[in-house]
Amino acid sequence: MVYFLTVLWERFARQAAKKHDFRLWSGGKCPVCGQKPILAMLSKGNGARLLECGLCHTRWEFYRLVCPDCGNKDQNTLGFFYLPSQQYRRVYVCKRCKYYLKTTVLRELGREIIPELENVATFYLDYLAHKEGYKLIGSKKETH
Ligand SMILES: [Zn+2]
Ligand SMILES: [Zn+2]
Repeated sequence: MVYFLTVLWERFARQAAKKHDFRLWSGGKCPVCGQKPILAMLSKGNGARLLECGLCHTRWEFYRLVCPDCGNKDQNTLGFFYLPSQQYRRVYVCKRCKYYLKTTVLRELGREIIPELENVATFYLDYLAHKEGYKLIGSKKETH
């Protein structure tokens, strides 16, 4: 009986470890399918940054002050812009690699979003980002 409990506990610990890794995934890419996120949101509760995969719809937490593309942590080259009329829809940019990611602040918006619709509804932000020289997510050539 004791043995049985031990095995169960070990299995539980393994699962917990897996979950933990998943939550703190630091690659900036979808932990399930490896795609780059189409959109990010800052959650209502603790303001954590959640990235949304456009392909398999996995949502995972990512460091808020790190570029999901190049891992840049230098706050002088990270920032965001928004239109004054829609402050809850921001575009986070990295000046080092010229990556941008649209980010909706759920607390300020006051509701949940459907990421695919939000992505379409905010295309003007893509336009502005392109105009500023930032690149569309996933459009960069990967070096193999
Ligand atoms: Zn995915
Ligand atoms: Zn970057």
